[in-house]
Amino acid sequence: MMDAYDPDNIFGKILRGEIPCHRVYEDDDVLAFMDVMPQSSGHTLVVPRTGSRNLLDAHPAVLATTIERVQDIAKAVKKAMNADGIRIAQFNEAVAGQTVFHLHFHIIPMYEGVTLKPHSGDMADNDVLADQAKQIAAAL
Ligand code: AMP
Repeated sequence: MMDAYDPDNIFGKILRGEIPCHRVYEDDDVLAFMDVMPQSSGHTLVVPRTGSRNLLDAHPAVLATTIERVQDIAKAVKKAMNADGIRIAQFNEAVAGQTVFHLHFHIIPMYEGVTLKPHSGDMADNDVLADQAKQIAAAL
């Protein structure tokens, strides 16, 4: 049995405006913002406003809308960051690498010859993240 969704998670707090983020995009369905511990330059997260623990307990309609937004934002990330490719990642439960228990999709730009940094590694510079968020928003 999976644990229930707990709204007191860090992305729940970001969605409610209780803690800040470097916002890339938002609408009635999703919020997209920069990952503070990026695996590559431009690493962006897309989070549905409707809470679920992960993909496994999400409503199919939420998944459908969210993946459409992931596509749009991935294209903008690729363009703004001049990336060579994009990796989409999504983890379900701690054993699979999930650390924040509110459904989210990782948009990770890939660059020729550049190895990804570890998942949940070093914090990025705030000014750099703010600048990247602006550039990606402008490419949407
Ligand atoms: P996951 O392991 O898929 O649950 O990913 C959680 C991601 O959230 C990691 O890549 C973290 O670097 C990122 N993260 C954790 N806290 C924050 C935060 N306050 N703002 C933005 N990203 C965060």
